[in-house]
Amino acid sequence: MTSIHDNLQTIGVNIQKTTQQYHHPPGSVKLLAVSKRHSVNKIREAYEAGQRSFGENYVQELLEKKEQLSDLDIKWHFIGPLQSNKTKKIAEAVDWVHTIDRFKIAKRLNDQRPENLPKLSACIQVNISGEESKSGILIEELPILAKKINELPRLKLQGLMVIPAPEKNIDKQRIVFAKVANIKKDLYQQGIELNTLSMGMSDDMEAAIAEGSTIVRIGTAIFGTREN
Ligand SMILES: *Cc1c(COP(=O)(O)O)cnc(C)c1O
Repeated sequence: MTSIHDNLQTIGVNIQKTTQQYHHPPGSVKLLAVSKRHSVNKIREAYEAGQRSFGENYVQELLEKKEQLSDLDIKWHFIGPLQSNKTKKIAEAVDWVHTIDRFKIAKRLNDQRPENLPKLSACIQVNISGEESKSGILIEELPILAKKINELPRLKLQGLMVIPAPEKNIDKQRIVFAKVANIKKDLYQQGIELNTLSMGMSDDMEAAIAEGSTIVRIGTAIFGTREN
């Protein structure tokens, strides 16, 4: 079994190579280490190898890990489904939320973001596959949501996030990511400038980078198979 340190190194090289191969600016793709259902010891190991940004999917798990790792200078990203009764804890605990899919959640995060913290970075989760997926906002409804979130003073709307349906073929993976990249361009035409595309996981990272991802969210390729 390879170590977390080695995995991070390999992924870093892959990101760099792929970014170059598809003519994106060097350094334009950041690695988010997805640590859900992995131990705090593994997070420490990744931290010691230089990783600083970690993603978690479950509110309680994130809070417990943050507490246990309070001696480390970690940027926490929330990437799981968010119910309105959990927004306060998330507004107080994280630097980024990737999964905003309705205004009610954004408004609550805005109102609950503590004054002593910087603005909360936010991505809108896009539902690219329509009916099949329950999470994310439909493309037709996206511009209005983006405009409304842009007006919230305690949030910083950074970009779009997508979780495509699993697909093995890289060309088909690219079609989906290209759609999201195009939506970002359309929003720019409407006066909404975004700098982030949160897309790409262990099995579709290359396709996501090809289409302009700026944050890849990688779990398995760093930490191995999840523990439970
Ligand atoms: C679990 C998860 C990931 C990481 O997936 P891997 O296949 O383990 O790399 C990325 N994004 C989200 C939203 C996840 O839930």
